[in-house]
Amino acid sequence: MTPNTIKVALIGNPNVGKTSVFNQLTGLNQQVGNYPGITVDKKTGICKINQITRAKIIDLPGTYSLNANSIDENVVIELLLNKNDEDFPDVAVVVTEVENLKRNLLLFTQIKDLEIPTLLVINMSDRMKQKGIELDIPLLEKALKTKIALISSRKNIGIDKIKELILNYKSLSKEACLNASSIDEEYFNRLRKAFPNQLLYKLWLVITQDVNFLNLERNEIENNFTRSHTELKKLQQKETIKRYQFINDTLKVTQKIDKSKATDFQSKLDNILTHKVFGYLIFFGILLLIFQSIFDWSSIPMDFIDTSFSKFSAYTKENLPSGKFTDLLSDGIIPGIGGIVIFIPQIAFLFLFISVLEESGYMSRVVFLMDKIMRRFGLSGKSIVPLISGTACAIPAIMSARNIENWKERLITILITPFITCSARLPVYAILISLIIPEKRFLGFSLQGLTLMALYLMAFFVAIGSAYILNKLLKLKCKSYFVVEMPSYKVPMFKNVALNVLEKTKAFVTGAGKIILAISIVLWFLGSHGSANFDNAEKIIAEKHEKPLTEEMRQNKINAYKLENSYIGMMGKTIEPVIKPLGYDWKIGIAVVSSFAAREVFVGTLATIYSVGSQSEEEATIKMKMAEDIDENGNKIFNFATGISLLLFYAFAMQCVSTLAIVKKETNSWKWPLIQLVFMSGFAYVVALIAYQTLK
Ligand code: GDP
Repeated sequence: MTPNTIKVALIGNPNVGKTSVFNQLTGLNQQVGNYPGITVDKKTGICKINQITRAKIIDLPGTYSLNANSIDENVVIELLLNKNDEDFPDVAVVVTEVENLKRNLLLFTQIKDLEIPTLLVINMSDRMKQKGIELDIPLLEKALKTKIALISSRKNIGIDKIKELILNYKSLSKEACLNASSIDEEYFNRLRKAFPNQLLYKLWLVITQDVNFLNLERNEIENNFTRSHTELKKLQQKETIKRYQFINDTLKVTQKIDKSKATDFQSKLDNILTHKVFGYLIFFGILLLIFQSIFDWSSIPMDFIDTSFSKFSAYTKENLPSGKFTDLLSDGIIPGIGGIVIFIPQIAFLFLFISVLEESGYMSRVVFLMDKIMRRFGLSGKSIVPLISGTACAIPAIMSARNIENWKERLITILITPFITCSARLPVYAILISLIIPEKRFLGFSLQGLTLMALYLMAFFVAIGSAYILNKLLKLKCKSYFVVEMPSYKVPMFKNVALNVLEKTKAFVTGAGKIILAISIVLWFLGSHGSANFDNAEKIIAEKHEKPLTEEMRQNKINAYKLENSYIGMMGKTIEPVIKPLGYDWKIGIAVVSSFAAREVFVGTLATIYSVGSQSEEEATIKMKMAEDIDENGNKIFNFATGISLLLFYAFAMQCVSTLAIVKKETNSWKWPLIQLVFMSGFAYVVALIAYQTLK
């Protein structure tokens, strides 16, 4: 790092607009990584302060205090206590917001006591007038011994002030707000004597938190200074009370609130949105709207992508010299990339909706609303976030279960999340639904959209049902409490939503995309090479048919014969007896098997298989080729029974190695992912079997 880079830690309570401030400071210069050993996202960004100075900004997870309750919160305290950490900040920027200043300042006073240069950002200044809030900033700066930037990240006001304060961080006072010994004089005097060179408040945090620093003293601390858990808790409470006394006294003279201005629009809205009946109806309505739009809106770009890639593939085939490389390009790589790109509209729309719901403050109401129901199934209201994020991808969803404090509730949430319909299933559903469900409308809703919604709901109910069973089966005792904050309703900020959509889509393309492309290439190879029969296909067909065939029929026969005798055809044939009862032929078998690496491979695989063994025109889309496919008796392969059976199989089977890997990581054992794999796939097989046998 160059000498002109200032290291900045961005800290704050959840919902104060920390992400918005981070986005304003860093724009697109952001990077998302991981803290070593744990799965908490580590967001960093570079901010240009002036011509020669840069700031490296670390966006730390939102936390209410330094009394850590979760892994996320631990990250904050571990960084701030560890001077040797490469990211140890030169300056801490604590973000707060005008409406909840009192609560937000608790964290500020704690950070200040670590004697790191700390500056205070008070966000959402645009709401002051409406809420009748006035602040005496110079007096507040004096009382808190800091510099303050009063800003509105929404209106882009005051961001330069933050930069200026960061630039001049050396002039910030390092003085503490609270004299730590006042928590318990006698105890702290002893501590001071034993460790004259250590900061008292730091020692206090090391004693009360389970953090791994100051290792040298750890033993000594444990021998001489530990107190019973209840005693420590009492002292922590005393600390909190002292801090609030200080904050109250300070705000009394620096803040004026005109109570008459406090509109009750917010609470009226809450009454409706968290209402016992309407609350659920509205939530259900919103979900319906979301799924309808995902299906309707993304079909246009998706059709366009599908046709473009088929055209491009045909174009390369016609215009490049024929040979292995051209085959690889037009039958392997191009359809493979197409299979990734085609997801982008749906993923982007889904994240657009999720982040709008989060940004507007509505998601917290949903969490609150759902808690009552979720509890009965051994889940927490907070499980709704993983369950909803699971509609995008189980991987980030399972990671987001970290917010659930209770281990049993968290484990159950992790185990059931893969049932939720993820975006990788969406293209599978989309293509199958469009093959077997007519394009009609029912009460104004598209029948295809309703089928999609039914699949989502079914997955949700199976997930909840499994949670209920797991709750009865798992013998784990954990105490549980539930805190959810109701941030005020706000119009979502475009920049936040856009960056979130961009980040999630990028993560999908670079993460899952690589696997899909690799598998497409492997599949192309397996599909275009094979046994001796494969190589001699032309001769064999010629010998078989004594009567001369038309050129087109001859080519079709050769292609079909080649596919059957390729490596992939042989693999598909091997498993055919197992999947036949489900209504699948060997071609579908290949797609199902390769989907165990990742579901989204299904469409790509069929695309590759149907390109390799194409019997129709080059430019036909994959969907057209699938719709035309018939078995030896002339019946459609993708008929209603097979389609439903496949939909159900994909709804329930655990076909995603990445999810298994993340579950292993989050539960720290192979036991749970293995149980998931066996149980979910077994269940999928049985359900698909019953469906096909009843419907055929
Ligand atoms: P975080 O949880 O602290 O990262 O907060 P976010 O950045 O996600 O913001 C929480 C909510 O506050 C979102 O709905 C933002 O649109 C909103 N918000 C952020 N900054 C401002 C601001 O300056 N003024 C107003 N009125 N709303 C803001």
